[in-house]
This record gives sequence, C-alpha cells and structure tokens, in this order.
Amino acid sequence: MKKVLTVLVAAAMITVVGCGNKNDANNAAGGGNTAGGNAGAPKTETSAPKKANIGVAIYKFDDTFMTGVRNAISAAAGDKATVDIVDSQNSQPTQNDKVDLFITKKVNALAVNPVDRTAAGVIIDKAKAANIPVVFFNREPLADDMKKWDKVYYVGAKAEQSGTMEGQLIVDYFKAHPEADKNKDGTLQYVMLKGEPGHQDAELRTKFSVKAVEDSGMKVEKLAEDTAMWDRVKGQEKMAAFLASHGDKIEAVFANNDDMALGAIEALKAKGYFKDGKFMPVVGVDATAPAVKALEEGTLLGTVLNDAKNQGKATFNIANVLASGQTPNKDNAGYEITDGKYVWVPYKKITKENINDAK
Ligand code: BGC
Repeated sequence: MKKVLTVLVAAAMITVVGCGNKNDANNAAGGGNTAGGNAGAPKTETSAPKKANIGVAIYKFDDTFMTGVRNAISAAAGDKATVDIVDSQNSQPTQNDKVDLFITKKVNALAVNPVDRTAAGVIIDKAKAANIPVVFFNREPLADDMKKWDKVYYVGAKAEQSGTMEGQLIVDYFKAHPEADKNKDGTLQYVMLKGEPGHQDAELRTKFSVKAVEDSGMKVEKLAEDTAMWDRVKGQEKMAAFLASHGDKIEAVFANNDDMALGAIEALKAKGYFKDGKFMPVVGVDATAPAVKALEEGTLLGTVLNDAKNQGKATFNIANVLASGQTPNKDNAGYEITDGKYVWVPYKKITKENINDAK
C-alpha cells in the first residue's frame, strides 16, 4: 500500500512539474517571459513581457476589402506585437504550407483568413496539436469545426445583415422613385452578381437582399444571376453579358460586394447609363474608397459598410490576448465575444446622405 502511495505521489509530482514546464514554455511562447527563451540567463519572474509573434495568412492580397483588413491588422499591431502577414494566393494548399511554416517557427498565435472555409478543420487540428491558438476572420469556418477546440475564434460580420441592408436600399429607392419600375408591372426585375460560391457572404447576401425586397411587399423576378468571384473586371464582363441578354428590362443590380458593383457600373456606362437621365440602381457591400467615390459621383446608389478597420483590429486584439496565454474577453480584447468564440462587427447602410460614416 505504501509503495502504491509513493508511486502515486511521485506521479502527481511529475504531472505538476510537467505542467509547470509546459506553462513556462507557453509563457515564453506567449511573450510572458523574456528569460524563458534566453539560454543561460537567470530566470526572473519580473522580466519585461516579450512581444508576441503572430502569423497571419490572408486568402489573397489582391482583394480590395482584404487589403483594408490587412492594413488594419498591421495598424492595430503597431509595436505591440510582431505580425508576419503572408499571401495565400487564393490557393488552399499554399495556405496550408504557410500555416505549417508558422507552426514550425512556433508563432504564439495564428490569424487565418481561409481560402476555403471548409478547410479550417485541418488548420485547427494542426494548431491544436501544436497548442497555438487560432483566430479565423472574414471567411467563417463551419460550426462543427469551430467546436473542435476552445482556442479557436472567429471575427467577422453577420452576412445576412448586409444582404438585408442591400435589399432595403433598393426598396427605399423604389418607394421614392415609382418610375424605376420601368415596365410598370409592379415587379422588380433584377440581376445578381454573386461573390465566390460557398462563401457565407456570397450565399447569404444573395438570399437576404432579395428576401428584404419581398418582405417589403414588392414582387421580384430574377432575370439573371452569375458569380463574378468578388472581382471588378469579372463584374464588368458578367454585367455586359446580362445587358446583352436583357437590356433595358433590368431594373436593379445587386452585387455581393463593391468591386463587382463598380464593374457593373462600367458596363452600364458603356451602354449609356448615368448620363442624360438614364439611371440604374446598383448596390454593393463594403464601402471601399472607390465605392464611396462612386456614391459621391451618383453612379452607385448605395453600399453597406463592411468595417475592415474593426474587423482587423478585433482579429489582432483577440490573437494577441490568446498569444499571451489569456482568454479573450471584452476587457482585454475590447470586443464583445458571443458564444465564447465569435466577434461580430456590425454592418451599416451607406448612401450619399451619410457618406461620412464610411470615410
Ligand atoms: C467582402 C468582399 C471580399 C470577401 C473576401 C467579403 O466580406 O465583402 O469584398 O472579396 O469578403 O473573402
């Protein structure tokens, strides 16, 4: 019996010592202890906190909105932490390699804007095995993947909210301009420029923009819908094709983002719109700088502010808190956390009237 007890006590001690070491490692990794990573230096409890290293992977640099988020992450980091931001070049295998490299380098936290949101599960497994917390942003992982580990967070915006707001912008316009119903059939004939299929913002903005119009009591008829992959040039090409098939039957253009809306405006201009009293209501999402300019010029009817600044800042803050080994909350991260792992940054409707809110 005594022997058994001795063994148990010894085992308990190993566990305690083991945990202690692990915590030391975490502290050093989390930037809690400079001496931890300094071989030979005496260990002190009071050394200045080390800056965290945060590995950030963006789905692709060549995306107008994500450029805003990327800049906001750098600005929020300032000299508080070292952020290494890499371009996944719209390829999930490339992103996985970049994440592997961050893990090899033992970054203290990861911030990932997945190329394919369904690939988040694989990233979570790897991060968990290395005990490196991960914050996803802009492309929402599936709920089941989010549940895989408690050190997984998501920063984004409620896609359905932006869709609803886009729809309301069109409803407001039609209420104020009955002549916008060109064929006077009491039905809104529209075309839809969709973002990347499968992206929560593409699917839900498409659905909820039309739903908001229907909820207002207006009838709708979809003349055409196609994906332009969030891209301005593709938006222009698809809109040119819509105009070739449906011409002046089109009464409104929904675009899942501003870049595609601006592409559509180019195609419309080529067909004589936006001069001599010929107008087409076009709505987008993001409130990027070129979109705000188009609002001022009177080509874009309205947009929805997708708050890149706060999404970038929240992503950085949450990652930095996790890197220090703490659990993020409103006090230490500055943002409300829902269901233990989500930060939702609100959208806002933007028209010429409140343009300064977007600037
Ligand atoms: C933005 C798009 C952007 C996409 C990237 C969306 O939230 O509205 O402009 O291309 O995110 O994932």
